[in-house]
Amino acid sequence: MVASQTATIVSINPATKEVLGEVPVLGQSEVQAAVERSWVAYENWSMLQFHKRTRKILELRRVIERKQDEIADLVCREVGKPRVESYLSELTGPLDTCVWLSENAERMLRDQLIQLPNPMLSSKQSLVAFEPLGVVGVIAPWNYPFSIPMMTILMAVALGNTVVLKPSEKSPLVGIKIGELFEAAGFPKDVVNVVTGDRSTGEHLSNCRLSKLIFTGSVEGGMKVMAQAAPHLTPVTLELGGKDAAIVLPDAPVDWTARGIVWGAFTNAGQACASIERLYLIKGKKTDALIERIQHHTKALIVGNPADPNVDIGPVVDEIQLEKVISHVEEARALGATVLTGGNRRDDLGGFFYEPTILTGVNHKMAIMQKESFGPILPIMIVDSEDEAVELANDSEFGLTASVWGKNLARAEGIARDLNVGTVLLNDCLFSHAAPQLPWGGLKKSGFGRSHSQFGLQDLCNIKHINIDSPSGSERIWWYPYGEPRVKVAKAGIGLLHGTFPVGKTKGLFSLLGNMFRKAKK
Ligand code: NAD
Repeated sequence: MVASQTATIVSINPATKEVLGEVPVLGQSEVQAAVERSWVAYENWSMLQFHKRTRKILELRRVIERKQDEIADLVCREVGKPRVESYLSELTGPLDTCVWLSENAERMLRDQLIQLPNPMLSSKQSLVAFEPLGVVGVIAPWNYPFSIPMMTILMAVALGNTVVLKPSEKSPLVGIKIGELFEAAGFPKDVVNVVTGDRSTGEHLSNCRLSKLIFTGSVEGGMKVMAQAAPHLTPVTLELGGKDAAIVLPDAPVDWTARGIVWGAFTNAGQACASIERLYLIKGKKTDALIERIQHHTKALIVGNPADPNVDIGPVVDEIQLEKVISHVEEARALGATVLTGGNRRDDLGGFFYEPTILTGVNHKMAIMQKESFGPILPIMIVDSEDEAVELANDSEFGLTASVWGKNLARAEGIARDLNVGTVLLNDCLFSHAAPQLPWGGLKKSGFGRSHSQFGLQDLCNIKHINIDSPSGSERIWWYPYGEPRVKVAKAGIGLLHGTFPVGKTKGLFSLLGNMFRKAKK
């Protein structure tokens, strides 16, 4: 993607370098205008009854299902995603989200009554209402250009928010398609606005008056967005990078585990925030066999233009990404790592291709074990114990997901609890982003906040507390006037509620009865 002088960006197929289209880089006034239109749309959209909004969401489900080939084809061409992934990892998450929201969101966000056991509050009733926030800004990456923004937008609009989406400059056509789908499903105008452009457009958006900003992208981008949102105190959710570890126990079934690891490392050409980027094998009798099987399944992968449904690995997204991958492999090689398979760019294929690559002899001084590579490379370390595997897995500035592989599930779960990440999957990897019921988000430089699930939904609401009491309700002993009798009542109350039984509580009770009706100071 290149910014031209006429303030447009050109979308390029990374498999062929063919130009797919050109879209405008929207400036400050255009982004501002889109946000203002979204505020106007919010007035009516937020007032609609839940079921009327979910009816539109179910209509959108129909539209996505009808247009699945068109969407998958565009994703495949614009970011080089293999065809199977263009359907499975891009479409199922949004479609499932439509169903999940329509069946559960209203129930999950019903008013909640809160009990107040303290006798001083006995006449009060508290409830929590979940109300829409307003206009939500969504700044999206290119690696899952449809499913990531789509799932977030669906959750935001189901609750009555309106959204302004800034798609990645590397996948603007998919972003525009998202806007068209909402229109085709009959959503009112401006409930979802799409502003195309590069990071300057994202900067303008994060400078606007928004109720919330959800940023998915690089750590550097996230830090800037947080600073840009600070003057407005716009709350941000940051979904950032990962360097996700897989730990394999010695009892893991060899061939099955090898297939899972190979998929986790190389799906989407390794360009998933939750890709397996580090593999720790706990030494056992089958370690060599496992490495051999990983190599075997990797060598069988077909690299090429993902328009061919047989292709397993497409290109990386651009030359910058390709050079980053190469630099990680070459640095590791220079520091003594062994490339077991792959290790070459494939210019002969016409786009930004790199062979799926496996390395051993790596260590944590190398960038390949510390920095996000975001490419089809899998560095493997053999370790002596579970403790060592956990220590190394946690030795990272990231904390997004991890996976643990093995037959002994109690042992695997024990390891899962020791890992400093937001999600741990046993005997699988990556899939959980597509399940809207499950929380998604990380620790450390992987960001903060949770999307998806009931927690993500609540994050898109104003969680409003309303407390109800009448003028004839219980005595407000915390109101004026103060004085010595009031101090005695306070101490007696603490004794009664929190003193030891029977002495403290009995003393508290008598003291309370004795002081309750004494006059406070004038
Ligand atoms: P990026 O940070 O370059 O760009 C992401 C989006 O932010 C783009 O739309 C871009 O235009 C915009 N942007 C960049 N700088 C900005 C700024 N200063 N102000 C406002 N907007 C700005 O990231 P990318 O290359 O598109 O995405 C890859 C990264 O995203 C990887 O690190 C990956 O791990 C991460 N990612 C994380 C998750 C997650 O759920 N945690 C999911 C997907 C991708």
